[in-house]
Order: sequence, then C-alpha cells, then structure tokens
Amino acid sequence: MRLQGKRAFITAAAQGIGRATAEAMIREGAIVTATDINADLLADLEGATTGRVDVLDRAALEAAIREADPEILVNCAGIVHAGTIQQATDDDFALAMNLNVRSQFVAIQAALPAMLARGAGSIVNIASVASTLMGVRNRFAYSTSKAAVIGLTKSVAMDFIATGIRCNCIAPGTVDSPSLHDRLRATGDYDQAMADFVARQPMGRIGSSPEIADLVVYLASDESRYMSGQCLTIDGGMSL
Ligand code: NAD
Repeated sequence: MRLQGKRAFITAAAQGIGRATAEAMIREGAIVTATDINADLLADLEGATTGRVDVLDRAALEAAIREADPEILVNCAGIVHAGTIQQATDDDFALAMNLNVRSQFVAIQAALPAMLARGAGSIVNIASVASTLMGVRNRFAYSTSKAAVIGLTKSVAMDFIATGIRCNCIAPGTVDSPSLHDRLRATGDYDQAMADFVARQPMGRIGSSPEIADLVVYLASDESRYMSGQCLTIDGGMSL
C-alpha cells in the first residue's frame, strides 16, 4: 500500500474528485481526514475521520488542519462560475478567487509549519485545463482562478524545494461528478450539453473521478518523490 500510515487531509471530499481521492487513499492505507461543507454527504464514507469544514472560513480550516496534522494535503475545493467576463460580477469573481485559490493559500499556510518540522510533506492542488493551459468558453472567473492555482503551486514548490516538502497540481479536463451534471442541467438541454462535452474529448468520453484520484495518490506518494512544482494534465486529450 503506497500511503500506509500517512496522514492525509482532503477538502471537498463529499463527492466527485475529492470523494474518489478519499476512497483511493483509504485503500492505499492512509489515515484520512475527509472534510466538506456538506457533512451529511460524508456520513457514508467509511474508514476516514470526517468533518464539516467550509474552506472559506479561515479559522475553521486552520483548526481542522492543525488537528489532523497532515503529511499529505489535498486541496480539492472548487466552484465553477459559468459565463464570460461580461457576465461576471465582483461577487462572482471574489467567490471564485476565495474558494478556488485563497482556500489553498490558507490550507497550505496551516499545514506548512508541521511539515517543515518533519522535513516532509506532499501537497496536491486541484487546478483545471481551463486556465493557463487552454481557453475554455464561458469560464472566465473559473479559468482565472485555476490559472492562479498553477502559479501558487509553482511558488510554494520553489520556496520549499529543499525542505522535503513537495507541491504539485493536477489539471483535469471534463470529469463526471455531481456538479458536472448540475452544469449540464443548467444549460436547459442536458443531452445536447453532454454530447457537446463529449465531442470535445478526443478519447470520446469524459473522465471519471477515480481516474483523477489515481493521479492524486501518485503525487501524494513517494513514487513521485523527484517531482515538485508540476501541473499534470489529465484530460482524455481535451487540450491536445
Ligand atoms: P463537485 O463540484 O461535484 O463537488 C464539489 C464539492 O465541494 C462538494 O462536495 C461541495 O459540497 C464541496 N464544497 C463546495 N463549497 C465548499 C466550501 N466552501 N468548503 C468546503 N467544501 C465545499 O466535485 P468535482 O467536480 O469533482 O470538483 C472537484 C475539484 O475538481 C474542483 O476544484 C473543480 O474545480 C475541479 N475540477 C473539476 C472538473 C470536472 O469536470 N468535474 C474539471 C476540472 C477541475
């Protein structure tokens, strides 16, 4: 088991990529603290310590991380704002930056002191292909925030490169998750929207959350010990 006995802290672990990551890490022997703003959805996650944590609440996020004392930190929380720059309000933009970027800044700040004291740690941030990697229609605030995740990741990796702490991020393409289905329904024509998403996938299908979780496990584990500051794209060829 690749994460035997390692303490892992995951945000937004109730569903989608975060949930699949929690389940994969449990299977790999990690001692998992799985958190989400929706504690009810965490109730059936077996083999982990679970708790409600709103990543927008600095004090709560810091306290939960200090208590869990993670050797692995997975920053998964993220929200999609649909629309171009013309449709984004100040509040939309602020929420995208606060939830998708500032939460990672806060979580890493909270986890770093203990990681530094141990001289070891692996941080995995969830970015997106919608960012510096490629332009995606109607994802202005989201793409801006996810590009910042890549910059944050490289900055943290560089500043702590010689300390034993690694920081990498993952850029998924379109992944099957509950919020994806919400976005498809919100278009008003679910079937057409799904067909459009699949059409932009050279592999002919969207990804699954467990496929992304496998990559999170790899980056969290010692198998990737010579890798830091990288953004790994996993998108079925969407950005090819
Ligand atoms: P999802 O969007 O279906 O679920 C998100 C989870 O985040 C939910 O459990 C929700 O309760 C939780 N959450 C929302 N606000 C929160 C808050 N303030 N504090 C704590 N938790 C909160 O899951 P997903 O689609 O797998 O997305 C997970 C991550 O992957 C996000 O960062 C997303 O941007 C990224 N991502 C997703 C896709 C995709 O196509 N699904 C593609 C690229 C990147």
